[in-house]
Amino acid sequence: MSFQGTVDANCPSCTDGFDAPVWSFVHGGKDAILRDQAKAMELNLLLCPSCGAAVVPEVAWIYYEPDDEILAFVFPVSYLAEEAKWRDKMKADFAAMREALGDHLPVGHEPEVYFGPEGLAKLLEFEDWRRDERDVMFFFAKDLKLSVYKASPAWAREYGAPSWLPYEGKSPTRASIIAGLSKIVEANDRLTAWSAFLEKFEKDASAGVPPAAMAGH
Ligand SMILES: [Zn+2]
Repeated sequence: MSFQGTVDANCPSCTDGFDAPVWSFVHGGKDAILRDQAKAMELNLLLCPSCGAAVVPEVAWIYYEPDDEILAFVFPVSYLAEEAKWRDKMKADFAAMREALGDHLPVGHEPEVYFGPEGLAKLLEFEDWRRDERDVMFFFAKDLKLSVYKASPAWAREYGAPSWLPYEGKSPTRASIIAGLSKIVEANDRLTAWSAFLEKFEKDASAGVPPAAMAGH
């Protein structure tokens, strides 16, 4: 469900004008190729049909990946000159999208706003790295007969925590998560994201079970 619009671009090299399709909404969970392009900072990068020069069109677009609870507005770098205006526009657009998409949108979190492609590329790289790390943890959890609680990825980014948390026993509680974390870091001392979280979580006596991930759409 990604979709495109058309942009009227001008080549900075040969000054030719041309029309080209650009992505205005990218569903990164459904379109792996577009996700890769965003990660490589190549999404919406155009080639001038006259001289072949690379052209970065002045377009804003939205990146959406519900499994990782990512909703990002990517504005051209030049829009930074009027940052406040574009942040206000994002808020208005987000409100309209929320009406249209309803509970498919990550709730309780403001969308990310980026000027230029770099911020989103870094976020996607980070999530890939988290995913690899999570797979290793999952393997150890299975081996130790622990269950895995899937916390909200947006919460995890905010808290600086891994989003998959091992726990012992039947249901995830503060105590069963602490028990699961203790076992997993004992079994593998390279799972530093979990040992760091365990330390933080144990100290923060008011921290309960983190919010759960939204069901995958
Ligand atoms: Zn050109």
